[in-house]
Amino acid sequence: MRSLTLIAPAKINLYLEIIGDRPDGYHELSMILQSIELADQIDVRSADTQAIRVHCDHPQVPTDKSNLAYRAADLMAMQFPDTFAKYGGVEITVKKQIPVAAGLAGGSTNAAAVLVGIDLLWNLGLTQSELEELGATLGSDVPFCVAGGTAIATGRGEQLSPLPSLDNLYVVLAKYRSLEVSTAWAYKTYRQQFGNSYIRDTNSLAARASAVHSGGIVKAIFDQNAGEIAQKLHNDLERVVLPTYPQVLQLREVFANQEGVLGTMMSGSGPTVFALFESEQQAQTVKLRVREAIPDEDLELFVTRTTSHGIQIASSL
Ligand code: ATP
Repeated sequence: MRSLTLIAPAKINLYLEIIGDRPDGYHELSMILQSIELADQIDVRSADTQAIRVHCDHPQVPTDKSNLAYRAADLMAMQFPDTFAKYGGVEITVKKQIPVAAGLAGGSTNAAAVLVGIDLLWNLGLTQSELEELGATLGSDVPFCVAGGTAIATGRGEQLSPLPSLDNLYVVLAKYRSLEVSTAWAYKTYRQQFGNSYIRDTNSLAARASAVHSGGIVKAIFDQNAGEIAQKLHNDLERVVLPTYPQVLQLREVFANQEGVLGTMMSGSGPTVFALFESEQQAQTVKLRVREAIPDEDLELFVTRTTSHGIQIASSL
């Protein structure tokens, strides 16, 4: 096999709770992550050089060593130097559909696709948990992106417990093209404003983190109750992002006032806002209504669907 095409889905956060600080400087989180069909396409090809190269024509995506897809390939080359020497370099082409710096794990899912792709290209035979472990060294969302679907994510987001898949919900995503929110800024600001309410005692921290397993939204997911899931959407980061970015707040309000919307929330550190629907028709209608309410060309709107898939192979040669 010389080349592979992979599909790398984005994610939304159905739930994001910030529990406290971790000794490694990250936050202790309780999240529920959900893959959606909106995806990038990643081509991974063996090259006759010893170099790793990334191609991407999206203006906001770097093609140098800072690209997460590059870092994933570099990690594989460092972990498996003999195999790297045997198979040669890697050419990676990223065809971006997922908005960048949007809270949709665009970079993380690209990195997950490269790990899966190189594992196959180099016949390494790594297990899902080995791929997730490698992914965790690249970023907190990368392990989830490998298998995707619906999952509880605790720790800094890398400890995963799969949940029953929710592949029948429609999603409208709204993001201003030129508006980016730095994930680092969002967490830092949250700590500054709400750090005094963090749980500090280690046992209480662990108890609180695992409470999500028996929480209302997890029960609603087991019951496949879309209305109940939508009522229980939660994201602590809205507390810092909505007051700072009035456009994001406006999107939340416009969605909340539309008929047919089961629930609406910001994804991750934003600025993407999503709304959930039972049917595609309702989702398409609300997309049009939001467009009418906010006739700003900078606003991108997508209709997509929840999916039970993480990284998938589209073709191999
Ligand atoms: P998360 O939800 O995991 O916090 P995000 O969706 O908010 O991620 P990304 O789309 O991953 O954010 O982009 C964050 C930054 O990473 C951007 O500023 C971008 O320039 C950089 N970046 C590096 N590699 C990639 C990549 N392969 N795709 C997109 N952005 C990348």
